[in-house]
Amino acid sequence: MIKKIGVLTSGGDAPGMNAAVAGVVKAASAKGIEVYGIKDGYKGLVNGWIEKIDVDFAQEILTRGGTALGSARLPEFKEEAVRQVAVDNLKKAGIEALVVCGGDGSYMGAQRLTEMGINCVGLPGTIDNDIVSSDYTIGFDTALNTIVEAIDRIRDTMQSHNRAAVVEVMGNHCGDLALYAGTATGCEVISTSESQLTEEEICQQVKVLAEAGKRSVIVLVSEKLYDANKLAEKVEAVSGYVTRATILGHTQRGGIPTAMDRYLAITSAIYAVEQLANGNGGVYVGLDGNKLVARDIDSTLNMPRKDKSQEIATIRLLNAQFKNK
Ligand code: ADP
Repeated sequence: MIKKIGVLTSGGDAPGMNAAVAGVVKAASAKGIEVYGIKDGYKGLVNGWIEKIDVDFAQEILTRGGTALGSARLPEFKEEAVRQVAVDNLKKAGIEALVVCGGDGSYMGAQRLTEMGINCVGLPGTIDNDIVSSDYTIGFDTALNTIVEAIDRIRDTMQSHNRAAVVEVMGNHCGDLALYAGTATGCEVISTSESQLTEEEICQQVKVLAEAGKRSVIVLVSEKLYDANKLAEKVEAVSGYVTRATILGHTQRGGIPTAMDRYLAITSAIYAVEQLANGNGGVYVGLDGNKLVARDIDSTLNMPRKDKSQEIATIRLLNAQFKNK
């Protein structure tokens, strides 16, 4: 049985990463395994920023947003010589295996480390829900609730003033934050990278609603598709609504994790520790049909994304209906 494992958070931070770390510490501790926290992801591995963490630390961070261990990006980790320094640091500390909480990029690093003799298990930590191999990722639910609260507030003022709004949300090429938030708040126009509307199509759709007398319209768009401020200007010019842009930005990344994110993080962490205790490495833990699974990292990196364009089309149709009073 292994005696010492490490845990790190990597890539973009996500609410619930702390709960994942806490879950790893608690599950390992119950098996008599010591846990070492690595500061700032792979950067800390290479720099030897490794410190023992315990169940009191776990309990302290469990409910907090962000990541107490810190996260960083280290592109040089793609080089074998750089990774060798990390492996040597782990071996020096007697750490035999590692839990990595992050996104696809972090999984690649975990896979390479496994090939170099350190068993790694990946946990899906990202608000974007863009890890194809898991139905939900740790942080998605919290970010989604943050977005929904923001859109509800924006709707209040748009409705008061007979205006339109362009709201831009994160997602990094995955439209789930926009799709789920648009569904939950009734946004009239939704555009994501899976089902992207042209600026002209957006303006036309808003114009139709304006001409039919709709009091307020919200255009919800994923990041990296448009310049939200310029799009708002065009919508205003075509539709006649006074139109404001709101880019939710990093408000989506912070905040206290929801109960569902904490639950997913902790149950996934328990499962990850079991994998390592059984000598498995090079796997990720994900949710598949509401069941935790551990599968080869290699298999997840090449999985095709589910086609959600039909679902988006349906919601667009439903949300564009209204009865003029
Ligand atoms: P995310 O994990 O959120 O997808 P990144 O893509 O930035 O975020 O990846 C996080 C880190 O994982 C990178 O900064 C790098 O240290 C490591 N990484 C990414 N790709 C690879 C790779 N091909 N080989 C080794 N390490 C990688």
